[in-house]
Amino acid sequence: MKNIKIKNLPFQIPAGKIICIGRNYAEHAKELGHEIPEKPVLFLKPSSSLIQSGEDVIHPSFSNEMHHEVELVLLIGKTIKDADKKLAEDVIAGYAVGLDMTLRDLQNELKKKGNPWTVSKCFDTSAVISEVILKKDYTLTLDEEISLSVNGTVRQKEKLNKMIFKPVEIVEYISSMMTIEEGDLIFTGTPAGVGKVNRGDTINAEIENVGKLHCNVI
Ligand code: MG
Repeated sequence: MKNIKIKNLPFQIPAGKIICIGRNYAEHAKELGHEIPEKPVLFLKPSSSLIQSGEDVIHPSFSNEMHHEVELVLLIGKTIKDADKKLAEDVIAGYAVGLDMTLRDLQNELKKKGNPWTVSKCFDTSAVISEVILKKDYTLTLDEEISLSVNGTVRQKEKLNKMIFKPVEIVEYISSMMTIEEGDLIFTGTPAGVGKVNRGDTINAEIENVGKLHCNVI
C-alpha cells in the first residue's frame, strides 16, 4: 500500500486508485494529433505505480521513449457515486502537483493496434506526487500556473484555466461511471510540451501556491 503526504498533517494516508484524464488541454491534444474530446478520456494507474516527490523515477528497460506529463492532482476525501456539482466540489479534499510518466513508444504501438494503453502508463514509479495541500488551507482559483522543467530547461508552462474539463466537472463525470473512494487520486491531464526524459535527468515541477515536486530519472 502506498501513502500520500499531506501538508500540516502529522500522518500519511493510504492511496486508493489513480484515475487519469487524457487530452484535457487543447494544445496537448493537438500536439499528439488528437481531436478535442467531447467527454473526459479516462484511464487508470494502479496505486503500486505511486511515488512521492524526492524518490527516483526508474526508466523501464522495455521502453526507449519515456515522456513527462505534469498535471494537477485532486485528492478525494469521501466515497461517492453519481455526484452532482455541489457534492463533486465538496469531495475534493486537496490538491497536489503530479507527474503522469508515460512510455510514449509503447503507447503509440498499442493505440495503433487498438489495444489498451495499460503497460505504457502503469509501470512502477510512473505516478509521482508532491505533498497534498488541503482545500481548507488553499482555495484553487485555476489562475495558477503549472510548469515543468528538465535539467533546468522549462518544457511545460500553462495556466490551469486552460483545462477543457475543470476539476468539478471531472469528478462529477467520473462518479457517473464508477465509485470514487476516499484516498483516490485524480490526475487531471497535461498541458502541451510533453517530451522525452533520459536516465540521469532531473525533473522539477510546480503549481503556483499548490506545491513543488522534484525527482531524478535513473
Ligand atoms: Mg497524462
